[in-house]
Amino acid sequence: MRIDVITIFPEVFEPVFSSSMLGRAAEKGLVQFVTHDLRDYASDAHRTVDDYPFGGGPGMVMKPEPFFRAHEAVTADDDRPATTILLCPQGAPFRQDTAVVLARAERLILLCGRYEGFDERIRSLADLELSIGDYVLTGGELPAMVVVDAVARLVPGVLGDASSAEEESFSMGLLEYPQYTRPASYAGRDVPDVLLSGDHARIARWRREQAIIKTARRRPDLLRDLDLSDAERALAEAQTHVQTSEERT
Ligand code: SAM
Repeated sequence: MRIDVITIFPEVFEPVFSSSMLGRAAEKGLVQFVTHDLRDYASDAHRTVDDYPFGGGPGMVMKPEPFFRAHEAVTADDDRPATTILLCPQGAPFRQDTAVVLARAERLILLCGRYEGFDERIRSLADLELSIGDYVLTGGELPAMVVVDAVARLVPGVLGDASSAEEESFSMGLLEYPQYTRPASYAGRDVPDVLLSGDHARIARWRREQAIIKTARRRPDLLRDLDLSDAERALAEAQTHVQTSEERT
């Protein structure tokens, strides 16, 4: 997969794209990251990418021409078909299922806004507008990093153990079950016996139940459209008013 990012701050991506799992994915050639300075596509000596809004109002708006020129050049730089994503608080909420779909793409091009946002005509470049949450950030760079991180770790070969992506929160429509590591007992708190039993079928059953309980208590909205057995649905409904002592603190 190749991921291009068009931004006025290409330098902020370097440490993120070269560290940890993303850095290893790039080293292994599984994901190629390419950043582009939007100002290189401006047409004046000052490399201007913003202008005053027509009709008045606060702040500056990102001009269309640099984005159109940059997008055309970046698209032409590679034969593979690209999905273009515009980062925007007005976009569709970015979710794990979106990341799963995007991880199958051969190429992604991400457009990062700044100032008061994009001239409306820039939206026509995008196949998809994504928001990372109902709050407003100063620019699209952090949202682009969030999307790239969530997508790249799902590209085959990037995670050491592919099953970790299959079992984690949101993948099955549930939050992940509680996880423990050594020591088996710490400060009077014991790891549940079932996890030490070596009985894999029992452990799998316990984890499924715990995932349902946790989801019902913390994110009941996730359960609404989920395919649960009658017993699982009853287990979820029983949690509605229960809060663990850990959750209360
Ligand atoms: N005036 C715009 C509005 O009300 O929708 C917000 C502009 S924001 C200050 C500047 C840029 O940051 C946006 O164009 C977008 O690229 C990015 N951005 C801010 N919040 C975001 C979010 N929650 N999700 C995705 N991108 C966001």
